[in-house]
Amino acid sequence: MRLTVIGTGYLGAVHAACMADIGHEVLGVDVDIQKIEALAEGRPPFFEPGLQEVLVRNVRSGRLRFTTSLREAAEFGDVHFICVGTPQQRGSNAADLRHVDAVIDGLAPYLHGRSLIVGKSTVPVGTTARLAARISERIPDGSDVEIAWNPEFLREGYAVQDTLQPDRLVAGVLSSRADETLRTVYAPMLQAGIPYISTDPATAELVKVSANSFLATKISFINAMAEVCEAAGADVVTLADAIGHDTRIGRRFLSAGLGFGGGCLPKDIRAFTARAAELGVDHSVAFLREMDEINLRQRRRTVDIARGMADGTFVGSRVAVLGATFKPDSDDVRDSPALAVAAAVHAEGAEVRVYDPQGMENARAVHGDLTYAPNVLTALKDADVVLHLTEWSQFRELDPVKLAAVVRAPRILDARNGLDAAVWRSAGWTVRALGRPSASVVPGQQPAGRVTLPQSAVRGSAAPIAATGLSRSPK
Ligand code: NAD
Repeated sequence: MRLTVIGTGYLGAVHAACMADIGHEVLGVDVDIQKIEALAEGRPPFFEPGLQEVLVRNVRSGRLRFTTSLREAAEFGDVHFICVGTPQQRGSNAADLRHVDAVIDGLAPYLHGRSLIVGKSTVPVGTTARLAARISERIPDGSDVEIAWNPEFLREGYAVQDTLQPDRLVAGVLSSRADETLRTVYAPMLQAGIPYISTDPATAELVKVSANSFLATKISFINAMAEVCEAAGADVVTLADAIGHDTRIGRRFLSAGLGFGGGCLPKDIRAFTARAAELGVDHSVAFLREMDEINLRQRRRTVDIARGMADGTFVGSRVAVLGATFKPDSDDVRDSPALAVAAAVHAEGAEVRVYDPQGMENARAVHGDLTYAPNVLTALKDADVVLHLTEWSQFRELDPVKLAAVVRAPRILDARNGLDAAVWRSAGWTVRALGRPSASVVPGQQPAGRVTLPQSAVRGSAAPIAATGLSRSPK
């Protein structure tokens, strides 16, 4: 088939490359000329494991091309995937759909004959219906254009795998013809037995936001338990292991720590609450506001605990930060909890040195005020406190004996519960971990570095620092 993929960011670039890889002729479209030039040369404009290989293979074969022209897209393809961003609106929790609307407005007038527009971006329920009317007002007489919604569930870091072998495909369609078209697009996946759920567009739109809401709730649930563990002297990791054995609960997404961020979960749950309010059912998803608040509180708790480890003030101290991206195996720093904490610590007077395996360039672009170190050793040199904020696997493999020799004081806060506290302690480190007060205690010894949490941190009443992503914006 001849497909176009409009918007070639984290979602669209991967979708375009993978659709070409399963045999389609694909034209990727973006307004960002630099992105388009890089992709056309087989260079992914962001870090995503495995993408370069698929991209190069398909650019070379000629099945995958790129352009900035929607007119060219309209002439080229029969199926047009919309993969543009749907960020949070300024001054509101609602989604900003202006990029989606711009694609419809730019594409529809050139659509002659029969075609299908397929939305993949995450949108509020009701968007497909609204866009259907917008399309019919803009297409030339005699053309036959339909719209469907096919939400995307890929995870950054596993995006290629998730696109080629998704857990399921969801198609929100208005006709059996659109359904048949999407079944043909995804034929290799269907043949491989991947579940294909055909439904109406409203259900498809809601599947995506409810899936993200559930995941956000699971993370915030375990982080709420972490707060209780702190207060009660219990261990949240053991608690998560124990409840996770229950197959109804499951262990995944029960890792207590600094919480979620990125370009999806935070804005998606906020957009959902805004849309639910428009539909008159805000009470039904009011709990999501609490999930958001619990999530943001972890950033403030991390800052509070780190301050305690720095003897009560960051002024004059040097803090090493391991991790800047919102998750490992990505260079994405959008709404990154790690960067929010680093910026807040810096704002309180610390000299902050950040190291991240892939996210330094993006981090520097949004937080040029922080210092970036070329490697872990430089980041840790003469540090008073080390903060482990993104769980890259290479941080798990660090040698705490070697690192103890370069810091000023061997104190580490593992805000991702990803390090082996016993190994670090035996190398002389004071280790603090979220939700694990007992992890700082060596059996039979005084807990040398144990920090008593300020009540404000437990209650989450620390003053929000809006500019650094430590509080919800807007309220
Ligand atoms: P992104 O910012 O990386 O990419 C969006 C791209 O759209 C950018 O390259 C931008 O230049 C381009 N764009 C904007 N306006 C355009 C226009 N008028 N015409 C052509 N291109 C235009 O965002 P993303 O992370 O890829 O997310 C895109 C959508 O996919 C969002 O709705 C997001 O919620 C959803 N999503 C993202 C992921 C993820 O992991 N990133 C996963 C599932 C769903």
